[in-house]
Amino acid sequence: MKSYDLFIDNEWVKSEREEEQKVINPANEETIALIQKGSREDTRAAIDAARTAFDSGEWARLSPVFRADYVMKLAKVLEENLTRYGELELQNTGKPIKQVIDYDVAYTLDNLKFFAGASRVIDGVATNEYIPDGTSMLRRDPVGVVAAITPWNYPLMMVGWRAIPALAVGNTVVVKPASYTPLTTLELADAVSKVGFPKGVFNVVTGSGAEVGEELARSDKVDMIAFTGSNEVGRRISNIASSSVKRLSLELGGKAPFIVFDDADLDAASEGAVIGGLINNGQDCSAATRIYVQEGVFEKFKKLLIEKVRKIRVGDPTDMKTDLGPLISKDQQTRVKEYIEIGKKEGDVLYEGGSEGFKSGFFLKPTLIFTDDNRARIVQEEIFGPVPVLLKFKTYQEVIEKANDVMYGLGSSVWTKNVRLAMLAARDLRFGTVWVNDHAPIPSEMPWSPMKKSGYGASTSRYSLEEFTTVKHVYVDLTGLVRKSWHYQIYGDKP
Ligand code: NAD
Repeated sequence: MKSYDLFIDNEWVKSEREEEQKVINPANEETIALIQKGSREDTRAAIDAARTAFDSGEWARLSPVFRADYVMKLAKVLEENLTRYGELELQNTGKPIKQVIDYDVAYTLDNLKFFAGASRVIDGVATNEYIPDGTSMLRRDPVGVVAAITPWNYPLMMVGWRAIPALAVGNTVVVKPASYTPLTTLELADAVSKVGFPKGVFNVVTGSGAEVGEELARSDKVDMIAFTGSNEVGRRISNIASSSVKRLSLELGGKAPFIVFDDADLDAASEGAVIGGLINNGQDCSAATRIYVQEGVFEKFKKLLIEKVRKIRVGDPTDMKTDLGPLISKDQQTRVKEYIEIGKKEGDVLYEGGSEGFKSGFFLKPTLIFTDDNRARIVQEEIFGPVPVLLKFKTYQEVIEKANDVMYGLGSSVWTKNVRLAMLAARDLRFGTVWVNDHAPIPSEMPWSPMKKSGYGASTSRYSLEEFTTVKHVYVDLTGLVRKSWHYQIYGDKP
């Protein structure tokens, strides 16, 4: 069984306390690897490595074309090992083979290629004589040492979103992957070392959030935290980080509305609800968890949706015919089951798959619940499992109010053939993404950007590269004079 060390300063090192932790395959509960349980001391070593690498200027001052070249080489390793990375992600997360290879890894590869190219065209706008005596211009400089703290639901993709764009624009990074799913991140570190990135530019420390994560949030030597995860931990990190005044980019939870108007293509909408609602087994911040259907088509839509959900194939993730694998852990399975019980009190169960018939693994088939209470916990809280909730509405105004009435603001979708209605909804929905007649696509070129309590900042797109840079004003005197026209305001007489 493979045992992974910490990756610090381009070296594989043991944790100072040499404690190991098991990594489990959630589909069969078998141990698949051992990782180091990093400590605060190990985290400080990684931060020091990243700090020294940043302060040396070797990476930050490298021309964009050369940094992009490193990122492209990393992308090439991923491309040549698509299946290997996919299979490892499968073992570590339980995601079906068709998803990990054709979506998780293939999309991460596209993200990397995009960031490599886009990082070469970061522009500093505004060159003019805003004060007649001098020329002003803008530079975009890297922020410094970035800590990327990532979740378990898209392990490799989230390193692609939170660490790679930071690197591409000249920052150095320390990555702390989720303890359930560190393996593809550690393999990426191996690729970093093979590609020959300079020492200390990319570091990985595995270990608990309370130790490794909080040390990163607390450290004065870290300039920015790029965090993707739950609201609870996001809040904790921002509290801790405030004492050292660092930049934060927080991508937190979601509770996406999925709105079906009377005129929608119901075949397409019900198919979209299955895909959007059950993407990544519902363990997705953009999952369509609140399906609002207009009353005229409600019964027909409900029937179509139940028929399609019944056909979902849950089981062995290595089988190309499997649609959904297990949930990530026993804890997650218990939590989702508890929400199903809450849902039984708050509404009516339309279909319940259950978790019978599996010898091992954290499997749970989809459950569909109907409620007419928009304030129900199953409507308001992030369940993070295969439990979409169906709701009925009468008018446009009513559904927009209900859709917006959650603390989250990540993804949303509307299903209609009426362009005017779609455009109105795109205006009125307080979510960072509005899809029309689809749910889930995020092209690398477009921002994944939260609103409300889902956080702030942007992953993907050039806006993400802007997150990882600061704007710097450079002012060049044009007069060549000792005494500029305005100096008298501070010293001496007015000319
Ligand atoms: P989590 O918040 O439990 O953990 C995320 C990361 O934070 C992990 O690496 C964890 O070890 C670390 N962590 C835990 N406690 C910490 C602490 N006290 N200090 C510092 N770090 C700490 O989230 P999760 O359960 O891994 O992931 C699921 C959540 O992520 C869901 O809420 C989901 O919506 C969200 N998510 C959001 C997006 C997005 O783009 N907005 C994408 C994926 C996942």
